[in-house]
Amino acid sequence: MIIVLKPGTTTKAAGELAEQLKETYGVQIHTSQGTQSTLLGLIGDTHKVDAEAISAYDIVESVKRVQEPYKKANRKFHPENTVIEVCGRKIGDGSLQLIAGPCSVESRDQIGGIARRVQAAGAGFLRGGAFKPRTSPYAFQGLRAEGLELLLEAKAETGMPIVTEIMSADHIDLFRDVDIIQVGARNMQNFELLKELGKLDKPILLKRGLANTIEETLMSAEYIMSGGNEKVILCERGIRTFETYTRNTLDISAVPVFKKLSHLPVVVDPSHAAGIPWLIEPLSLAAAAAGADGLIIEVHNDPPHALSDGAQCLTPDQFDKIAARILAAKKALDSLD
Ligand code: PEP
Ligand code: MN
Repeated sequence: MIIVLKPGTTTKAAGELAEQLKETYGVQIHTSQGTQSTLLGLIGDTHKVDAEAISAYDIVESVKRVQEPYKKANRKFHPENTVIEVCGRKIGDGSLQLIAGPCSVESRDQIGGIARRVQAAGAGFLRGGAFKPRTSPYAFQGLRAEGLELLLEAKAETGMPIVTEIMSADHIDLFRDVDIIQVGARNMQNFELLKELGKLDKPILLKRGLANTIEETLMSAEYIMSGGNEKVILCERGIRTFETYTRNTLDISAVPVFKKLSHLPVVVDPSHAAGIPWLIEPLSLAAAAAGADGLIIEVHNDPPHALSDGAQCLTPDQFDKIAARILAAKKALDSLD
């Protein structure tokens, strides 16, 4: 349930009403202070809440029931876009952030070299997996803690904030200096992991599961947010369909749908969606046009010898060209506004 307060309502009056509602109905209150008005979002069992009685308060403009099961992630609870700031870079403010790097961190030279190249091409964030979710237990599993160290070294050298995947809540301490923690597609519904991430004060890049709906993705965001961590970035990375030409099918419509239903920033991963380097550019352009706040793209210095996902990685030279075209397209799109 959402209570819209009249413009000009003081913070004190809003706080008093919130306290009263908490006491009377045992609900949680999520306050959203917008430029136009203040909203009180009621979370919990709101069946007994008497909407008519609340409408009678002087400071109340309107009372609406929210049907969707996600509350904190819901745009109705927070009409303005959430902007997440990481090391001075903003995600969700209307800009298009490029996150680039290898699928896996493989060595100091590899991650450092790629970091310098993607930064020169315009990327604001460095990606690289240290803990890798692999289909085969015999495949490279990542450098694990050492991989995190190498990412931090690359950050120290370049100043680029780092994005890397967590697979177990047992590893949270190792991730304390990571700037954005990625939850991979395979763990999108690892609810115990999501609950633990909800206790952190750190941005979480939540990838849509391989076979999960938009609503399920928003419910996973809700798990993190309900724990208190509201810094969630949604990521569309392609879903499983009957199509086999591409590794997955990029659900481009998920971008405007996520933006309509939620205030959270949305990033698109064309690499895991396509599985093919030549598709990265058209999918990236489509994502920018659909309103994405960022792109996460795999880049490797030597794709044929990459220890994971070599088939879909761009080379740094390819990334140079594609990044320039994506950023030029973004400028052109902004000029339409
Ligand atoms: C990755 O980013 O390397 C990865 C494994 O992604 P996803 O979880 O989307 O498959
Ligand atoms: Mn990968």
